[in-house]
Amino acid sequence: MFTLISQQQKKRIGLLKTKNGVINTPFFMPIATKGAVKNVSPEDLLALGAEIVLGNTYHLWLRPGDDLIARAGGLHKFMHWSGPILTDSGGYQVFSLGARAKEKYGTNGVKLSEQGVDFADPLNGSRHFMSPEKSIDIQLNLGSDMIMVLDECPPYPCSHSAAKKSLELTTRWAARCLTYFQEKTKHLSRENRPLLFAIVQGSVYEDLRKESAKQLTAMDFDGFAIGGVAVGEPRKHLYEILQWVVPFLPADKPRYLMGLGKPEELVAAVEAGMDMFDCVIPTREGRHGRLFVWKEGNNLSGDFYETININNEQFREDFTPIDSNCDCYACKNFTKAYLNHLLRTNEPFFLKLASVHNLNFYLKLMKLLGEK
Ligand SMILES: [Zn+2]
Repeated sequence: MFTLISQQQKKRIGLLKTKNGVINTPFFMPIATKGAVKNVSPEDLLALGAEIVLGNTYHLWLRPGDDLIARAGGLHKFMHWSGPILTDSGGYQVFSLGARAKEKYGTNGVKLSEQGVDFADPLNGSRHFMSPEKSIDIQLNLGSDMIMVLDECPPYPCSHSAAKKSLELTTRWAARCLTYFQEKTKHLSRENRPLLFAIVQGSVYEDLRKESAKQLTAMDFDGFAIGGVAVGEPRKHLYEILQWVVPFLPADKPRYLMGLGKPEELVAAVEAGMDMFDCVIPTREGRHGRLFVWKEGNNLSGDFYETININNEQFREDFTPIDSNCDCYACKNFTKAYLNHLLRTNEPFFLKLASVHNLNFYLKLMKLLGEK
């Protein structure tokens, strides 16, 4: 259930109620791909003020298996995280990793049909079948608070006719997910039922994006996501897609921009009316030594941050924190010289400090956006 608290032009501030807690919007979700945010403990996440994490259906389904996780008491208990969890549908990984399996094992990486997707696990070549109903079953087994429908995420570039065919399939799959989800959760009270999100597709074509948004918002989903961005298309398309799609999204439901992005893109997306985000950038960049540093003033409309490469020689004897304006564990207790040393000597502790700092940057950014 989404409550809009205030709106300035298109930017929204609100509260999203899930079966495992209420989240302030707009918010950013750290990614716990396989049931853990890389190098960061649940206690670290709480100290950072994270209110929700994202788990990957595809990975947890194949290893260790959603049935095993259900027997463990659900994903929350299994990974020791009592706050809300959003799970993706697994579709994105089925298509992208299935294609990788094709390179490794030869023919038939991914076989798409009306019924679902047959694909090979790139780790061992074993074949699996994902359907809209199967994706819902897995996410219910995991105990997810927010469930995504299975969609076909076409690559970029994609012809108009292929994108049209794909979005029509995505709409039919969304309808199947909704019917199946309603049947499977009809015994649950409103407070105990997960939220179900549909995903707007349509590649970079205005008519298709609008068509997809119209078709999906005609159905009774709890929230709407914009998918098929950050798949290699030039970033100018992101801003166009937001302009085309957001006017169709109902004001009383949460809006999720999937897989994005750089800090300035999150600012632009919040200003365009989006509420929810996830991205690997803070943790992945951190692991490679690239750290986000605020510039003076916190003026989010301008050039408000820079990234430093902590591996650089200039930091070898720099005994100041990464960012003296940052209140994270890494900045409160350690210097750039220490981080430079840890990275150069491959100490695993570096990964924790860098991840904590970059996540703090992203979470603080969302907090600032939620205040102003
Ligand atoms: Zn910091």
